[in-house]
Amino acid sequence: MPKNLYTKNALKEAIAGKLQRHFACEVADATKDQIYEACALVVRDALTEHMIQTQNEVEKYGERQVHYLCMEFLVGRSLRNNAYNLGMLDELTAALKEMGYEMADIFEQEADPGLGNGGLGRLAACYMDGMATTGVRGTGYSIRYEHGIFKQKIEDGQQVELPDSWLASGDVWQIPAMDDTREVRIGGTIDTHFDENGKLVVEYHDYTPVLAVPYDMPISGYDTGNIARLRLWEAKSPIALDMKLFSSGEYLKALEKHAMAETISMVLYPEDNHREGQSLRLKQQYFLVSATLQDICAKHKAKYGTLANFAHKHVLHINDTHPTLVIPELMRILMDDNDMSWENAWNITSQSVAYTNHTVMPEALECWPVSLVQELMPRIMQIIHEINERFCRDLWNYFPNDFQKISRLAIVSDGIVRMAHLAIAGSFSINGVSALHSDILKERVFKDFYTIYPAKFRNVTNGIAHRRWLCEANPKLAALIESKIGKGYRKHPSELQVLANYGEDKALLAQLGQIKRDNKLRLAEYIKEHNGIEVNMDSIFDVQVKRLHEYKRQMLNILHIISLYHKLKDNPGMDFVPRTFVFGSKAAPGYAVAKKTIQLIHSIANMINNDPDIGDKLKVVFIEDYKVSLAEMIMPAAEISEQISIAGKEASGTGNMKFMMNGALTIGTMDGANVEICEAVGRENIFIFGMETPEAEALAASGNYEPMLIYQNDPVIKRVMDHMIHGFGDGVDYTDLANLLLHGGNGGPADRYMSLKDFSSYAVAQERVGEMYRRPENWNYMSLMNIANSGRFAADRSVAEYAQNIWRVKTNFAF
Ligand SMILES: *Cc1c(COP(=O)(O)O)cnc(C)c1O
Repeated sequence: MPKNLYTKNALKEAIAGKLQRHFACEVADATKDQIYEACALVVRDALTEHMIQTQNEVEKYGERQVHYLCMEFLVGRSLRNNAYNLGMLDELTAALKEMGYEMADIFEQEADPGLGNGGLGRLAACYMDGMATTGVRGTGYSIRYEHGIFKQKIEDGQQVELPDSWLASGDVWQIPAMDDTREVRIGGTIDTHFDENGKLVVEYHDYTPVLAVPYDMPISGYDTGNIARLRLWEAKSPIALDMKLFSSGEYLKALEKHAMAETISMVLYPEDNHREGQSLRLKQQYFLVSATLQDICAKHKAKYGTLANFAHKHVLHINDTHPTLVIPELMRILMDDNDMSWENAWNITSQSVAYTNHTVMPEALECWPVSLVQELMPRIMQIIHEINERFCRDLWNYFPNDFQKISRLAIVSDGIVRMAHLAIAGSFSINGVSALHSDILKERVFKDFYTIYPAKFRNVTNGIAHRRWLCEANPKLAALIESKIGKGYRKHPSELQVLANYGEDKALLAQLGQIKRDNKLRLAEYIKEHNGIEVNMDSIFDVQVKRLHEYKRQMLNILHIISLYHKLKDNPGMDFVPRTFVFGSKAAPGYAVAKKTIQLIHSIANMINNDPDIGDKLKVVFIEDYKVSLAEMIMPAAEISEQISIAGKEASGTGNMKFMMNGALTIGTMDGANVEICEAVGRENIFIFGMETPEAEALAASGNYEPMLIYQNDPVIKRVMDHMIHGFGDGVDYTDLANLLLHGGNGGPADRYMSLKDFSSYAVAQERVGEMYRRPENWNYMSLMNIANSGRFAADRSVAEYAQNIWRVKTNFAF
């Protein structure tokens, strides 16, 4: 692409040209939607050129490639990100201005593709950006869900889920690659026999063929021609056309198979740290894995004529266990389609696959019934059985005669396939996503595996795309930073550290405060428009946005808000630092407690926001439909970042990093990456409270935790709980949630996540927050220290660690 396309005038011309050719209209008559589309097409031209160039280089040099498989990629909007990375954002903004448009308005035309639930999917997207920028030859693979995560509506305080179609305006970023269409086989039966040469022959009968059609999203790196490609597979049925030829019985059967095939890429499962053991989900997983591997293997063979050197040229990275079937599927391709022996196939497979674990929560660890795997992918189940047998023989060498332990560690046991055990057996690397989480894996969750394979275990602490979350989402802050330390941090995020030299610069601290205020104002306007609530600009913007889950403890925040309300009711004239509590989160549709918690937030918001005694001292706001584009507005406006999960449960968190980078101060437990944030900023620049992991785990294991005793002895908690039992004046009954805290339920202990236990230390930490806020200069200093020390949480750093310690590929990143 000629460089001059990036000038303002060239861009204006290019946009006008796209409008003419695609919509047959002039700039003056174009709708905003058409302007967006034209801009996207112009930017896409630059991207596709880079993508072809990147692919040519991979082809030419044959460097090791990274294939990143994940059931979710929460990519966010593309136009601004790509324009920024290609270095054309300023010129594009200026060009649009001359055409009579605000860039921000045009960005809003783009749908926010919801191809993920939360942190896991967003992490995968941040890593695409990191791979592109640091020069890794990376491809992401996922499913092109027609419906991503549901659109959340709140009606009468309750979550309602609506389907979200993102494809119309997201289409422009996806380039179909029909020539790479693959066929995946689901169901049916198999016959295996040996031919006259003693070679195993596998015959497939009655299966449902599903076509996997790829669409490629090119993802730009910053200031580089390197492109990371995100390949999204769409499921299509090949049996549509001949249906009228079938006799009626076959017609129905064909129709059924047709529908089944196309359902596979219909919808994303709206679950997060919780699994839905449904057969469609398993089909989706196998569809992703099989299409991806067939694709990689076919290209590899075309180039090298053999798969014997596969492991030298490829890494298959699985983001959580959802794509674990890569292991048996690669075995199948190597043995059945390429005549390899078991031993050779196993060597190649187990040297190609690397696995990232994302959770230690039992309800999230994936298990599938053998019968279901057998039914949907019979050959794969055969291979898993064989992997399991050999694995158990291996275990016997380490734990002779310990039948119980071997059965506990087995891949297949009691009619269940344990995906994490399969992933551990079949990969050369297993990593956690924060220092604490990786230690928990080694010391507790996978303790026995760690004693057998200590060298397989590593840590790579999560990171975020700092250009998206800081430079693009908070341009004013980025400009201030760049006025002091230059632009080097865009590629070398550790340079943010230089900001720490400006702690005494009063003018800078004041500017920092002013920028936060500007960003708060933008959020306040959004809240006014969408919630009809006027928030106090002098209040602390205290934010908890993340998926709704009991372990994340939105409940602890709510209990504390109710206690503040009581305090103010008792003494309306008291000297109180005003607060605006902001929530945003989706609940899995089948997760009743989470949905009821959303309703609870609305009930207390109604009570508090409309109480004249409270006025503008306290407001509670729930922002509907939390998603990436909203996060990009919320993070820059936040002053307090709520990271209050019970210690030992949040693997890392990445929301915590986004807030920190935007100058919010964290109130948090010593959980996940909070531990490393605390280490980076120092205890004096963060509000840490609550039990630490050993204490929380010991108390839970002892069975001696009795929240009723806390209720009886702590009058503040008693009053809060009594209020919840009594209700908040809107007729909604919350005794169910109160009972879960005080008495337990659903087979679980009372207050499983120990909100009552941590309540008082949380309340004390919140008081310190209030006191600190009275001294703006100190507050801004702390905020500066958070920004200055956030560079280590950039995705570029994480990706470079993966590249160096796991993938063994080179990057241009300097640690
Ligand atoms: C970053 C992000 C998350 C993850 O937030 P956590 O606080 O780490 O759970 C979830 N959803 C969206 C939209 C995000 O941008």
